[in-house]
Amino acid sequence: MRLVLVGPPGAGKGTQAEFVAAHLAVPKISTGDIFRANVGQGTPLGRQAKQYMDSGQLVPDEVTITMVRERLAEPDAADGFLLDGFPRTVPQAVALDKMLADLGTQLDLVLELVVDEDEVIRRITGRRQCRGCGKIWHVEFDPPMHEGVCDRCGGQLYQRDDDRLEVIEERLRVYQRDTAPLVDFYGGQGKLVGIDATGPVEDVTVRAIDALRSYGG
Ligand code: AMP
Repeated sequence: MRLVLVGPPGAGKGTQAEFVAAHLAVPKISTGDIFRANVGQGTPLGRQAKQYMDSGQLVPDEVTITMVRERLAEPDAADGFLLDGFPRTVPQAVALDKMLADLGTQLDLVLELVVDEDEVIRRITGRRQCRGCGKIWHVEFDPPMHEGVCDRCGGQLYQRDDDRLEVIEERLRVYQRDTAPLVDFYGGQGKLVGIDATGPVEDVTVRAIDALRSYGG
């Protein structure tokens, strides 16, 4: 299955993407994770992306589209994938349709995680990510056993620069302006399914998997 996950920052895309990709046995391809890995390794791509990420802006389309094209060409993505955080603009969505058409295929479904802005702010400001394995915890909703330490791998937890309040507010503005139009774009293609992304993580996963089932996933 070829799937896209959309939703505002803080909708829980990263967390749900892990579960849904495991359920479908497809790779999870997260542009945010790829950018962060490049920033961490100090690659030229990372240096280019960092300034945009730290200020809540989107990395330019050409850079992002080239990166995704290369990633989708890898063998593990040949039979299906779950894209998390891409596309984030209509030009990226158009480019994705073209990439897949060139490969003789197309997207099956776009899952939209629906959640309001106040909830998003509460969620993001409490979010902590593991430097080791990338797992995301939450100081209030999903705390690790020992503060600041990942239960899964023992790695150190940190707050991403782009999770600070002033950056979130900018990211929400950017989402409304650049990404929200994808709802109409994919709605027009008949590929969009919205699910309520509030409440416990497990409940949202159940809703996501039920939505996929009704579309044959
Ligand atoms: P995320 O982890 O998906 O919230 O992404 C973190 C940051 O990476 C975003 O705020 C953007 O700066 C950048 N980014 C991730 N995906 C994209 C994309 N598809 N287009 C442009 N920038 C992106």
